[in-house]
Amino acid sequence: MSSVAENVNDARVVLEVSGLVKRFPIKGGLVRHEIGQVHAVEDVSFVVHEGETFSIVGESGCGKSTTGKCVLRLIEPTSGSVKLDGKEFTTLTGEDLTRERRKMTLIFQDPYSSLNPRMTVGDIIAEPIDIAGIYATREERDARVEQIMEEVGLDLAFKNRYPHEFSGGQRQRIGIARAIVMQPELVICDEPVSALDVSVQAKVINLLKQLQREMGLAYVFISHDLSVVKHISDTVMVMYLGHEMELASKEELFGNPLHPYTKALLDVIPRIRSERVQDKRILEGDVPSPTNPPSGCCFHTRCPFATDRCKSEVPAKHEVTPGHFCSCHLYDN
Ligand code: SF4
Repeated sequence: MSSVAENVNDARVVLEVSGLVKRFPIKGGLVRHEIGQVHAVEDVSFVVHEGETFSIVGESGCGKSTTGKCVLRLIEPTSGSVKLDGKEFTTLTGEDLTRERRKMTLIFQDPYSSLNPRMTVGDIIAEPIDIAGIYATREERDARVEQIMEEVGLDLAFKNRYPHEFSGGQRQRIGIARAIVMQPELVICDEPVSALDVSVQAKVINLLKQLQREMGLAYVFISHDLSVVKHISDTVMVMYLGHEMELASKEELFGNPLHPYTKALLDVIPRIRSERVQDKRILEGDVPSPTNPPSGCCFHTRCPFATDRCKSEVPAKHEVTPGHFCSCHLYDN
């Protein structure tokens, strides 16, 4: 375990999410009235500490990216609380919102489309500080850009060049430089390496870890790739159909998974499966539609342990061992 992971639960809480819900209306009919809802995120709660990498993992459509966007208020949550440094973030407006939002930032999945092709690398990195009007002089602003370029391993000669001149890995470094130029406390990393080659992925992950050590950054790391999550995380939350299934330290989640869905996810990854020889489960069937989620436990249509109770009763979130939470009736009582 890394020194960050050893101390992570003692560190200051940067982000506290409680009972987060996001439902998107479905409009229909001649007058476009609401005819249903997409249940994207349902009652999700977690905390992230300074210097911690908190990963949210699950299949496509499980609500992990929507959770990240709700935290940043790129989309407004339907209900629930998001506290940043202990202060409620969901109710802020105007200048208060602008000021607090600077403490958080986002690294996008796609380094090919997330950078403005008409701006130079220097201007892309400087854009957040230009908008915020942080530096009084051009010299100070340029010095900050160069400092950040050095920190992320970008050659200063790239400053006046354009994004299309760079590889995927270099573009993601530009995206990371832009994300951290304002010295945020929390970075939402939404599938930041999934568009990159495996060899480049490792370099970008190592850069993220290095910056975390140097700046004390807290990461919410959103990924469908359990191998990457196993490498970078301190804590992992598994989501399915908008619901939190299991939440534990990385060591607990990979070494002693409890939820039938987590076990099935781990069993389809050869490298991880070889460490868990007994009790193999293959996940069958498709993820149900979030517009019409199953009653009771949302995983019951694919769970080999489902009982009649699972079809009618939503399982509570149990703390099975200290810090290891699981939402499943198998752990009731
Ligand atoms: Fe399976 Fe029931 Fe547990 Fe859901 S609550 S994961 S259906 S055993």
